[in-house]
Amino acid sequence: MDKLKILTYPEPFLRQSAKDVENIDGDLQKLIDRMTFTMCESQGVGLASMQIGVDKNLIVFDRGLGDKEKREPDVLINPKIVASEGSLLSENEGCLSVPDFRADVKRYAAVAVEGVDREGKPVRIERDDFLAVILQHEIDHLRGTLFIDRISSLKRQLYKRRVKKQMRQHG
Ligand SMILES: [Zn+2]
Repeated sequence: MDKLKILTYPEPFLRQSAKDVENIDGDLQKLIDRMTFTMCESQGVGLASMQIGVDKNLIVFDRGLGDKEKREPDVLINPKIVASEGSLLSENEGCLSVPDFRADVKRYAAVAVEGVDREGKPVRIERDDFLAVILQHEIDHLRGTLFIDRISSLKRQLYKRRVKKQMRQHG
């Protein structure tokens, strides 16, 4: 299987919103498999469709929370945060679309997320651990939001300046 190309900031597509998946067919199953493969190969704990240039409301994530020995990839179609509680600082958050940058991000401490699985069956996930952060991060992608939008403007400006400099250097 080929790894899909992951779009990186400042690619404008990452700023668009995903559209709800209307029907789950063989093509969608294949896309889910390739996204799962790409996430695992990239050592990621989550991947949203927008990151690979597809505007479908769809995320894959690792219930094993990045433990290479205990990978447990899962998918959520048309995911929505239906309840949230508290807040925490997600330390050193990173993103496959924002390479070489990490920052602390304010997130809900607990979320309830609803969607459907790859067979179209309704799913509800309630978590108050690292997976709650992963789900918030990935669902953000489906609305065109990156974690750098949720950090201080000073830190964001530093990152943007660095990317501009790199782009100049690499023509
Ligand atoms: Zn991300």
